[in-house]
Amino acid sequence: MSAILPFFRYHPDPVASGSIREAAERCACCQRDRGWIYTATFYTALEVGGRFCPWCIADGSAAERFAGEFADSVGLDGVSEDVLHEVTRRTPGFRAWQDPHWLVHCQTAAAFVGEVGYAELAARPDALAQLRTEVRLHGWRDEAQLEQFLAHLGESATAMLFRCTVCGTHLAYVDAS
Ligand SMILES: [Zn+2]
Ligand SMILES: [Zn+2]
Repeated sequence: MSAILPFFRYHPDPVASGSIREAAERCACCQRDRGWIYTATFYTALEVGGRFCPWCIADGSAAERFAGEFADSVGLDGVSEDVLHEVTRRTPGFRAWQDPHWLVHCQTAAAFVGEVGYAELAARPDALAQLRTEVRLHGWRDEAQLEQFLAHLGESATAMLFRCTVCGTHLAYVDAS
């Protein structure tokens, strides 16, 4: 019974990240119950009478029919028009405190891995190093305070982890309420 889900280059495991889950629910676009439903963000000015199945996300029909986007294009500077289109209109978004956005590496969109805390980040030193730099840029001068903040990620603030689709480097940004 379990259908193979479409592959999303910029969000390779939307079931693990929680953006897509198993549910007997009719898709607001194709009107079919495909056994899986999308649970995260969709931005549109139109009225949508429900949620979407992963297939209507993958083929772009949900975004086209409801003139909407799954993610904001903020942060996707310098990526090609095709990639921008794929990320915002044919890729499942994710839930976050702030408006979710994609990170860029090697001049293209990175793949969203999931929301993580300090333990997962510590296993990805590249992402942790990059996050440290980012937090410093945002004005954190006190190193002890900064390390304290990073060590508590997963509690009041979390990190959104990405992996570069070209070189495989991990990168992350901080999400907080
Ligand atoms: Zn559908
Ligand atoms: Zn890269």
